[in-house]
Amino acid sequence: MMVERACRRCHYITEEKVCPNCKSTDLSEDFSGLVIIFDPKNSAIAKVMKIEKKGRYAIKVR
Ligand SMILES: [Zn+2]
Repeated sequence: MMVERACRRCHYITEEKVCPNCKSTDLSEDFSGLVIIFDPKNSAIAKVMKIEKKGRYAIKVR
């Protein structure tokens, strides 16, 4: 099974070693909470978290 990591910069959750969202390599396996954004333009959560791309995001990344 692949290990999922959350990006410390944008909180995007990925199985890659580089964040496909912001290209950061600063990823952490230690994250909690999960939001799935389908429609960033019409999502209040996406606005608060400054998310512009749909995907899965961690609430907290340590
Ligand atoms: Zn990122």
